[in-house]
Amino acid sequence: MHFGVSYFGVRNPLHCQRDIEAIARLGFSSIIFTFSEEDHRFYQGTLVACVRYAHEQGLQAYIDPWGVCGVFGGEAFSERGAWDLAGQQQRSDGRPLPLLCPNSAEVRTYLQRWITTVAEVLHADAIFWDEPHFSLPFGATQQQGLWSCCCVRCQAQFRHLYGTAFPTTETPEVRQCKQEALLQLIQDATAMAAGHGLRNIVCILPEHEDLEGLQRKCARFAANPHLDILATDPYPLWHRREVATTQVFCEALLQACQRHHKHAQMWIQGFRVPAGQESLLGDEMRLMAQCGIHDIAIWSYLATGYMSSHTCADAPRVWEVFTQTMLELRGGALG
Ligand SMILES: [Zn+2]
Repeated sequence: MHFGVSYFGVRNPLHCQRDIEAIARLGFSSIIFTFSEEDHRFYQGTLVACVRYAHEQGLQAYIDPWGVCGVFGGEAFSERGAWDLAGQQQRSDGRPLPLLCPNSAEVRTYLQRWITTVAEVLHADAIFWDEPHFSLPFGATQQQGLWSCCCVRCQAQFRHLYGTAFPTTETPEVRQCKQEALLQLIQDATAMAAGHGLRNIVCILPEHEDLEGLQRKCARFAANPHLDILATDPYPLWHRREVATTQVFCEALLQACQRHHKHAQMWIQGFRVPAGQESLLGDEMRLMAQCGIHDIAIWSYLATGYMSSHTCADAPRVWEVFTQTMLELRGGALG
């Protein structure tokens, strides 16, 4: 069994070193460092030190384009999304959004620079392509049925694929077209990274309501020749589902990975865990292992206890459940 943990928010190398040593002592094998646009501008040297500490401790160092261009998961804001006006997404009401369109040249130009830094400056092992997505409407925007992207590139792409006029609502064809755009972006980005000798992990946003869609999505992303590990994060507590539903996600992921000879990784929600539900995460980890998942990771270190907006009701308890279940599953794997 392999276990991974994400690490962010600390940019003092002295503290990072202490935390990385603690992570290694607990038996993790990989650490996922967030590397936002802000980090790329201001903290390259700090991340160089973090990657070096990880390697000294025998950990694999993966780098996450956290919130980069507004296309990848994470709470970090995107400067490029605000400044590269020609590359912005356009919402269905015509409003430009401060996020770059996955179909744009601008996002590729920035990612090329970002990847080069990860490979040649940070000397990391892999890139963790975190939840590539178009703008995710929520709250009032979602209630009004506003969606993205309706920019000229996306409209042209739709006409090219379907030969019909661009719809005014987000039809299944539009959603398919958006998935193709994300696949192409990931294909391009992973090819650039592989060209620098980096391995590639892609974590896909799970399709919760559509099993066929989930299987199709896993299969399409797993077919990428530059991909090494395919991951997903069902987070049943966040989505208020039974932990048992995680089995469907494990099976879809494993089926696609086996067909394309890739490794599979599943994520555990170590943030915003409600009081009294901590032990369910241990049940979910055991379920993943029973399904045949050999790589389980948690977002984030210490159950995100240091990020006030995302901490758990009892972060120390969540962290204890994860690390104790780790030991248990390792014992099982050994014995
Ligand atoms: Zn677009």
